[in-house]
Amino acid sequence: MERHKDGRMIPREEELIYRTRWLVRVRWFVVLLMGIGAVASHVLGFAYPAGPLLLLAAFVAAYNVLFAVVVRWSAARPVELVPVYRFINLQIAADFLALLAWVHYTGGPASPFLPFFVFHLVICGLLVSRRMVFVHAGWVLVVLLVMAIAEARGWLPHCPPLEAEVTRPIESARYLISIGVVTIVTFVTISIVVGGIAGRLRRRELELDEVRQELERHARQVEAAHAKLKKLDRDRISFFRLVSHQLRSPLSSIQTVLKLVTSGYAEQPEKAAELVARAELQSQHMLAMLNDMLSLTRVREAAQVEAPEMVALGPMVADVVEASQNAALAKKITLTADIASELPSISAIRNHAKQLFAILVENAVKYTPEGGTVEVTAEYDKGEVRVAVTDTGIGVPPDEMGEIFGEFFRASNARKHEHVGTGLGLSIGKKVADDLGGRIEVTSSVGRGSTFTVVLPVSPSGNPG
Ligand code: ADP
Repeated sequence: MERHKDGRMIPREEELIYRTRWLVRVRWFVVLLMGIGAVASHVLGFAYPAGPLLLLAAFVAAYNVLFAVVVRWSAARPVELVPVYRFINLQIAADFLALLAWVHYTGGPASPFLPFFVFHLVICGLLVSRRMVFVHAGWVLVVLLVMAIAEARGWLPHCPPLEAEVTRPIESARYLISIGVVTIVTFVTISIVVGGIAGRLRRRELELDEVRQELERHARQVEAAHAKLKKLDRDRISFFRLVSHQLRSPLSSIQTVLKLVTSGYAEQPEKAAELVARAELQSQHMLAMLNDMLSLTRVREAAQVEAPEMVALGPMVADVVEASQNAALAKKITLTADIASELPSISAIRNHAKQLFAILVENAVKYTPEGGTVEVTAEYDKGEVRVAVTDTGIGVPPDEMGEIFGEFFRASNARKHEHVGTGLGLSIGKKVADDLGGRIEVTSSVGRGSTFTVVLPVSPSGNPG
C-alpha cells in the first residue's frame, strides 16, 4: 500500500499506476543523458556513430510520449491489474530493446554500457514479478549472445569505440575516461535505485506497523463491545428471572386463597372475607410491582427518546413534599421542606426528575415510624444542587447498604417494618440520577434514621434563581 498526500492508504492497483508514472518520468531523464552522450562522444572524437545514437534517443523519446499519454488516459479510469502489468512489461521490453541497440552501436560485446543492463534489471525487479524478471533477463541475454556472435562473424556491423588503428584500447585515455564515466553513472544509478527501494521498504514497514496497531485497537474495541453485550444479555436474563420470581409468590398465594374459597374450606363469611382480603393485598402488591417495573422500563427507554427541558427545581421539590403530606399526616410524621430561594433550573425530563424526588420522600415517610420527622432541604453550592431527604426512620443495616439500589432488593428490617414494597424505587431513582449526570449519596444508622441526598451538577446553561 502506498499513501496519498492526505495520508490515506492506496491499494495495489493505484500503486502500480504510480510506478508506471515514475518509470515514464525516469525515462525522460535517460533520453536527456542519451542525447548528451551521443553528442559528447562525437565531440570527443569517439568512433561511435553519432547519427544512430541520436536517432535512438529520439526513438526512446517518441515511445515515452506514447506511454505518457497512456498513463494520463488511464489515470481517470478504473484500474485493472492485468492490463497494468502488461503495460509495464511492454515498457520494460521497449527499454531493453533500446538498450540493446545502444550497446550494439557502442561496441556490442565490448561496449562500456553493458553494466546498464544490471540496473535496468533492478528497476525491472521493482516493477514486475520475479518470474517476469527472469523472462526479460533470458531474452535479453539471448539477444546479446546472438549480437556478439553476429558481430564477431561479421553478419552484423561492429561499431568499435575507437578508430580501427587503436589496437590496444587500454592505452587510449578517451576510452578509459568513457569506461570511468559509464562506471560512475552505473554506481550512482544503482545507489539511487537501491537506496530508493530500501527507503520505500522502510516506509512500508512503518505503515504496516501503523495498520497493525490500528487493527489491534479495533480488535480491542470489538472485544470490549462484545463483553458489554454479553453482560447486557446476562443482566437481561437475570432481570427476567427476578421478575418471574417476584411475581410468582403473590400470584401463587392468590391462587391458594381462591382454591380455599372455591373448595368450600372457608364456610363462615368472616373467614372467606379474611382470605379474600389477603388475596387483595397480594394483588395490590403485584400491581405495585408491575407499575414500578413499567416505570423502570420507561425511565430506561425515555432517556433515548424524550427530549429534556429546563426544569425549575425549587417548585418541583415543593410539589413533591406537598404530595406526601397526607401520607405523613396519617402516620403523625412531621414533614417539612427548606428550599433555598436561589435554586437553579436543570435540564431534565420533567416526570423523571419528579419521580426521583418522590421516591425518596415516599420512602422516608414509609420507613419512619409514627411520630417521627422527615425533613427535605434543597440548596445550591459550587455548581451542584443538593436535595437531601432526612428521616428519623428505621435506617439501613450497614451490611445491606451496598445493595439497596439493586432491583427488587429490600433490606431485612424494611421487610419487617413495611410489608408493601417492590424494591424497585431506588433502582429507578438511581437510573434517573445517572441520566442527569448526578448521584445519590446515603448516610444511615439503624434505628436512628437516614439521609438520602441527590447531588446534581448544574450545566452552565442552568440559571440560578
Ligand atoms: P421499596 O421501598 O419498595 O422496598 P426501594 O427500592 O425504594 O424499594 O428501596 C430499597 C430498599 O432500601 C428498601 O427496601 C429499604 O430497605 C431501603 N430504604 C430505602 N429508603 C429508605 C429509608 N428512607 N429508610 C430506610 N431504608 C430505606
